[in-house]
Amino acid sequence: MQPPPNHRYLGRFAPSPTGPLHFGSLIAAIGSYLQARSNSGLWLVRMEDLDPPRERPGAADAILRTLEAYGFEWDGEVRYQSSRSEAYLDALERLRGEGRSYPCRCSRKEIGEQAERLGMAAGVYPGTCRGAAIRPQQPHATRFLVDDETITFIDAIQGRYSQQMAQQVGDFVLRRADGLFAYQLAVVIDDADQQITEVVRGSDLLDNTPRQIALQQALGLTTPHYLHLPIVVNAEGQKLSKQTFATALDDSNPLPALWQGLQFLGQQPPIELMNEKPETLWQWAVMHWRSDNIPRKLTADASNLIESRP
Ligand code: GLU
Repeated sequence: MQPPPNHRYLGRFAPSPTGPLHFGSLIAAIGSYLQARSNSGLWLVRMEDLDPPRERPGAADAILRTLEAYGFEWDGEVRYQSSRSEAYLDALERLRGEGRSYPCRCSRKEIGEQAERLGMAAGVYPGTCRGAAIRPQQPHATRFLVDDETITFIDAIQGRYSQQMAQQVGDFVLRRADGLFAYQLAVVIDDADQQITEVVRGSDLLDNTPRQIALQQALGLTTPHYLHLPIVVNAEGQKLSKQTFATALDDSNPLPALWQGLQFLGQQPPIELMNEKPETLWQWAVMHWRSDNIPRKLTADASNLIESRP
């Protein structure tokens, strides 16, 4: 008999529909799924469709079809961030009311020049528009006012991670000048609203986490646990992403990628599972999942992983 669901564990997989699922995002799906299922928890799917210019028509449905073909079973309805504007606007209003955000009219070019002049790290906003008089009718981005503090958290795989917010990050964007909500804002609001207890995702997002914790603190929200999986790189050592045209997964042949994904995550699936249905592989994987075997860093080359057939 299945143990009763443990609603104290809530996990999620949150793809952006900028293209079909590839091996890199499959790793995040497998890792988050197995953490949830091995804790008898719930696993939610959230479509992070907040950036229409980067999205591809049909990608959200294609991702869901691939998840189904690979035997993932999500709990409840899929949440679409595109339908969550009101919640994001509420949070922006609260932050503004508490003096934790401000409008900014700097262009990317100006920010680069200012940072260089001030000897700040590239990409760090030097706070130029803090206190500037900007009329609400003028097009502007909204930035979060960071405290002069260091945010530290302990990641379940990557260990202790710290960022000095003012020097290493700077005031970051919550809403862009074109009106689109920033990932940092939306992810924090939805992780809290969906009561996610552990965020499992690729370690390419590790350095985003202190920003998310800063926002949680400013909004009085609980900080979930974090587990950042090793990311998969291609033969040139670049991260596999939809933008670098990583090959889409084959919906008609899920076993090789699932098996290799498990292996990549430090598990030891028996070779015979290759000839089974995804359900059988998942049964084995939930029973044998050992998160402490997940490697911290990349140990294999993804192109080999995908091409080699064990
Ligand atoms: N939507 C993000 C991505 O596809 C993941 C965000 C997250 O898991 O926090 O890379």
